[in-house]
Amino acid sequence: SQNPTTIAPQPGIMEISLYEGGAAKVAGVENVVKLSSNENPFGPSEKAREAVIRAAHALHRYPNTDHAGLRAAIGEVHGLDPDRIICGVGSDEIIHFLCQAYAGPGTEVLFTEHGFLMYRISAHAAGATPVSVRERDRVTDIDALIAGASERTRLVFLANPNNPTGTMVGLPEIERLARAVPQAIVVVDAAYAEYASDYDGGAELATRLPNVFMTRTFSKIYGLGGLRVGWGYGPRGIVDVLNRIRGPFNLSNVALEGAEAAMRDREHIARCQAENARMRAWLAEALAEKGVPSDTSCANFILARFDDQATAESCDEYLKAQGLIVRRVGGYGLPNCLRITIGDEASCRRVAHVVGQFMAERA
Ligand code: PMP
Repeated sequence: SQNPTTIAPQPGIMEISLYEGGAAKVAGVENVVKLSSNENPFGPSEKAREAVIRAAHALHRYPNTDHAGLRAAIGEVHGLDPDRIICGVGSDEIIHFLCQAYAGPGTEVLFTEHGFLMYRISAHAAGATPVSVRERDRVTDIDALIAGASERTRLVFLANPNNPTGTMVGLPEIERLARAVPQAIVVVDAAYAEYASDYDGGAELATRLPNVFMTRTFSKIYGLGGLRVGWGYGPRGIVDVLNRIRGPFNLSNVALEGAEAAMRDREHIARCQAENARMRAWLAEALAEKGVPSDTSCANFILARFDDQATAESCDEYLKAQGLIVRRVGGYGLPNCLRITIGDEASCRRVAHVVGQFMAERA
């Protein structure tokens, strides 16, 4: 934590705790299965891989700055106006743009206690004050957000479905929130939208209301976490503001081509959705049978709940020793839980089996 420079950074910067990405390896263990980052176990569309390789032949060229091809593809698939779409280096960068543009010293950025860690990081980076409110049994509490807002609140972040709880709230509830906080932009972070059924990620609200903005990502169901592409959609005025602070070449040509091809391959996405839903139901039931409950998940992970922190941590160690990497979520205020990404069928069976062994040995 020692900072050798004598030049102090802006207020807020040293409040930031570094984001812990988690390991992909366990020393001395082979066949490690990584279920800790909510990645798609099937990876991206084959067409996306091919597009990435094609794009790699022109690495000496700067990418285009307006992202027209990618925005057109997103617009066609989602039925949205491409002029209201902005693309970024993951949705992380869109979250960052929002805080840079709308928050700052003397303002507040609001989110929920088990909300995504980037909201706090980006709020501090902008010099704003992060404010978090309680959830109700691991579900976003709209009334608590409304009560937590002040005249200084500029942004309200709401992951829906939420990471790491996997729960979500209905769109009428989000509309109620947006109408109650006209001084702020309500950001619906829909990184996991494709895993929920009959859900547009808040797109219709962001079309209709002046203070709702939606963020999306290629890192989850599109299987492109390594490519770093996300996007945002909302009122033209907000998109215009964000574009002013966006670096002109923020996305590489490799990223742009890969994401566009991935967006157009709907068959791959449909297959991944079906397989996730099937194994999510299976894993939730298998864990429950072994005495490990979870809330109904609308995402590509399950939040497994243990009696206490010590049990959750021993289970994590036990899994790791057998090559299964899951996510501790104490940093999200959930120390008695482990977040387990829905892998392919073999990984789900393996993790259920090892959790079962752990629970049996404890009994
Ligand atoms: N929002 C939520 C809720 C997430 O869980 C994540 C990924 N962990 C992101 C945003 C950011 O994803 P990316 O920057 O890869 O698009």
